[in-house]
Amino acid sequence: MKIGIDLGGSHVGVGIIEDANLLISKDKIFTPEDKENIENSIVKYIDKLIDEVLTEQGMSIDQIEKIGVAAPGTVSGGCITSYNLGLKGFNLQAILEQKYTQPIRVKNDGKCAALAEKKYGAMKDYEDCVFVNIGTGVGGAAFLDGKLLEPAKYSGFEFGHMTIVKDGIECTCGKRGCFERYASIKSLKTRIKRRLDMEDVDISGQYMREELMVKYHNEVRNDVNDFISYLRIGICNLIDIFEPEVVCFGGSFSYYEGHPVLQQLIEEIYKPESTFNDSKPKIVTAEFKNNAGIIGATVDF
Ligand SMILES: [Zn+2]
Repeated sequence: MKIGIDLGGSHVGVGIIEDANLLISKDKIFTPEDKENIENSIVKYIDKLIDEVLTEQGMSIDQIEKIGVAAPGTVSGGCITSYNLGLKGFNLQAILEQKYTQPIRVKNDGKCAALAEKKYGAMKDYEDCVFVNIGTGVGGAAFLDGKLLEPAKYSGFEFGHMTIVKDGIECTCGKRGCFERYASIKSLKTRIKRRLDMEDVDISGQYMREELMVKYHNEVRNDVNDFISYLRIGICNLIDIFEPEVVCFGGSFSYYEGHPVLQQLIEEIYKPESTFNDSKPKIVTAEFKNNAGIIGATVDF
């Protein structure tokens, strides 16, 4: 059995995993105070959540073979640089290696989620795959001929930071007009809240998707259409580059399976003028939904 840790832009989750099965998981959402000293908060909650999941399963840490971490942003040599979390070269691997005797692996979260879907989930029957994680930000991974593509130095595959708007909105990475500023679920939520005068209200992704977007369909239609258009541009760029057999959506966007937003997006992607070749890859959502990262943190490790 292994421990998987999913470090996200707004939370940390810890689970015990056996192959593709998440036996138990617990998570903690970062408060604004936690974010003021984010490095300490991450380490503190990881320790606490590991204790809690082991206790609830009636297990001891000695029964765990390995500990894998799925982390946002760029991961290089166990160090995390994430603009969303405000981390620069944070060596989580070294910290965890001092506390635990198990081997530790820290890997980019988009790649972890993609590994889970490729090995056990929605992409398991395909060789050429593009995985796009859409949540607080946008990340992902690509497989060609069944192999996960990985640059030697950085994480690569920063799909969220390809420029799609000249002189566009400033991004946390320092550039302008990045894909994730226009096509993340966070960006959609910001636009819908602004439109409905709800900027100070804390709403869940589910409430936005199932209640607001239905009840206020006419009011938010332009915002939703804009979101779909930007998403189409980015996804079609990826299709033209990789020519995948399948595109899999992960992160919060995986909950849009069967939703009119995803249906409209697929229709727009399949229009002949959207892609260079007459590419019609299969478009699916992640089987493991938001658990893909935590499960994938332990895949092939
Ligand atoms: Zn950016």
